[in-house]
Amino acid sequence: MRFCPLYSGSSGNTAYVEGGGVKLLVDAGLPGRTVAGALCARGVAPGEIDGLLVTHDHSDHIAGVGVFARRYGVPVYANEGTWDAMLPFTGRMEPRLMRAFETGRDFYIGGLNVYPFPTPHDAAEPVGYSFSDGGAKLTVMTDIGCFNDDLLAAAAGSALLMIESNHDVEMLRCGPYPYPLKRRILGSEGHLSNDCCAEALIRLYSTGVRRAVLAHLSRDNNIEALAMETVRQALREADIPDGEFLLSLAHRDAVGEMFEF
Ligand SMILES: [Zn+2]
Ligand SMILES: [Zn+2]
Repeated sequence: MRFCPLYSGSSGNTAYVEGGGVKLLVDAGLPGRTVAGALCARGVAPGEIDGLLVTHDHSDHIAGVGVFARRYGVPVYANEGTWDAMLPFTGRMEPRLMRAFETGRDFYIGGLNVYPFPTPHDAAEPVGYSFSDGGAKLTVMTDIGCFNDDLLAAAAGSALLMIESNHDVEMLRCGPYPYPLKRRILGSEGHLSNDCCAEALIRLYSTGVRRAVLAHLSRDNNIEALAMETVRQALREADIPDGEFLLSLAHRDAVGEMFEF
């Protein structure tokens, strides 16, 4: 399988997934032309995309969905709750490009198994995704207010995991955001802090996860080096040596690296 976090963060999210003979996008939260440009930068023609999976209806995940789907004739996959909440913002969608799935029930696109699982987040019906081509498993989970046993089960044993490391709690507390927004981000349906991300990875290590991409970093309440160091330090304190766990970062404003596994 191949995976590339094209862009990730509070200013827009889109990721590339390839396996089982198909090429997919998870979210398109930037202008359609930006998403297309990022794909081209990684050697993938936008017209080759077989499907666009949506995690939830927040604008940093759907801003480019309508334009990208129409321009390249790409089917869009979302659950009913997300479709209802998203449709007022996508522009006209042809019924032939609209696919609905049920949260918690896996399905296939080509030879790739797709498992949408519920996430704790303040959107209509948010999900994360696990993908499997029969061999390796990839899990994408951002926009999660807290990490729980269900998420642990969903991501267990992933060969590669993209997980949110949204904010440093002190930066958020002392930063310029108004109090209600701070409370929303820190809440159990908001975003995952660097510390909570580290705790999640320590638990996931025991299920066999050895490689993670830290994602959805806040522009105002995090710094790439700080996220990386916080998680790395927590892993060391849990007796997980650096060489035992590969950590990477998904960038907010630069196309990410292509992973093969
Ligand atoms: Zn969100
Ligand atoms: Zn988001």
